[in-house]
Amino acid sequence: MSNSFEVSDMKTRVINLREDSNNPYEDPIEKLANKENEFRDELIKDNVDPQLIDKIADRFSTETLEKMEAEKTGHADLLTSFSNKNSMIENLPKILSAEQRKQKKCSLIMLDLDHFKSVNDIYGHEIGDLVLKSISNIIKQNLRASDFPFRYGGEEFVIFLMDSDVAIAKTVAEKIRKAVEEAEIKFKDKNNQEIILKKTISIGCVDTKNINSWDVDDKDFDSKLVMQELIEKADEALYKSKETGRNKIEIYSNRIE
Ligand code: GH3
Ligand code: MG
Ligand code: MG
Repeated sequence: MSNSFEVSDMKTRVINLREDSNNPYEDPIEKLANKENEFRDELIKDNVDPQLIDKIADRFSTETLEKMEAEKTGHADLLTSFSNKNSMIENLPKILSAEQRKQKKCSLIMLDLDHFKSVNDIYGHEIGDLVLKSISNIIKQNLRASDFPFRYGGEEFVIFLMDSDVAIAKTVAEKIRKAVEEAEIKFKDKNNQEIILKKTISIGCVDTKNINSWDVDDKDFDSKLVMQELIEKADEALYKSKETGRNKIEIYSNRIE
């Protein structure tokens, strides 16, 4: 039983991997178990001494777990602890394919901090980082467990909502917009002066119903293209929010009004 500590440690690590997973359709525990089983089958096929199989398979599992952890770390944004753009590019098409098979609608929210450059210019980059972190916390507090936030770029975030049309996205976006508008971000400036800063965000929303590449009945549908189109249209709506006054939400619609 010398390795009972190691076994429970591995269990904790796999459970940690499962938490905040970016893909509800891929369970790390199942993935690890399947990989180990496949590996064991190969060892048996290669006539490896049965007494050695457990040892080799254990080592294989540890290495696989390490790879999965490294992958997850590489996908996390350290400042906000949201997943980054690479994670979105890898996981979103898989989620979209699964949702399409279930004939569900999905929506996407893109948001950008208003006049954020001035925070850096006035208070410095470190305070800029603090403000970004505070706003990402507000976003987090206003999301449901099934929503997926990503740090898309510098001061730009994407939130993907499963099984939700744009009306639901708008409700979620409005909650976040209002919470950010009302928040007081407190810090001390270079002269040790207490500052209370208020910021706003502009938002663009879109759902799969309003884009051309989405087809619930198409078996060859291209989930990467759907992701690209969702991003492009949400960005278009976000641009309109900026153009028409900021601190507001615009919805992309392909219907002729
Ligand atoms: P707008 O309302 O049009 O979005 O104005 P803006 O000033 O927010 O937009 P702009 O694109 O001109 O500037 C974005 C700024 O965000 C510039 C960049 O220095 C800052 N930024 C991006 N990422 C980070 C970051 O990780 N930390 C800090 N402190 N600043 C960042
Ligand atoms: Mg901005
Ligand atoms: Mg920006």
